[in-house]
Amino acid sequence: MPVSGLGTYDETNVFARILRGEIPCKKIFENEFALAFHDIHPRAPVHVLVIPKAPYISLADFTAHATPDMIAGFFAAVGTVARQLDLEAPGYRILANCGTHAHQEVPHLHVHIFGGRPLGPMLVEV
Ligand code: AMP
Repeated sequence: MPVSGLGTYDETNVFARILRGEIPCKKIFENEFALAFHDIHPRAPVHVLVIPKAPYISLADFTAHATPDMIAGFFAAVGTVARQLDLEAPGYRILANCGTHAHQEVPHLHVHIFGGRPLGPMLVEV
C-alpha cells in the first residue's frame, strides 16, 4: 500500500526495525549517516537500498528537516555504495519514491540503487 511522504514518523516501519537490529538485513555498507542493504525483492541483478540512520519519512521530510551535514553525508553514502558495487563504469540508476503518486511503500526514506544490466527507459510511457 502506498503511503504519504509527510506526517508523523512511524517507529514501527520495517526500516526502523532494521536500524534497531530487530530484524535482519543483508548489509553491505554502514557509516554514521547511512545503512545500505540488499532489497528483499530485487528488481535488477543489483538492487540495493540506502537509508539514513535517522527518522525521516521521505525525501520531502529529509530535505525539509535534516541538517546540511546529514543531507550531504547521506547522498555521499549513496555514491560510495554505488562505487563499492562497481557500478560506476557500466552505470546505474537511483530512485527515491516519495509519497502516494510515487508508490512509496515504506515510510522511511530510502534510495534504491539499480544496476547490473541495461535498465531501459526511465518510466514506461502512458
Ligand atoms: P518503495 O516502494 O520505494 O517504498 O520500496 C520499498 C522497498 O523495500 C521494496 O523494494 C521492498 O522490496 C523493500 N523491502 C521491504 N521490506 C524489506 C526488508 N525487510 N529488507 C529489504 N528490503 C525490503
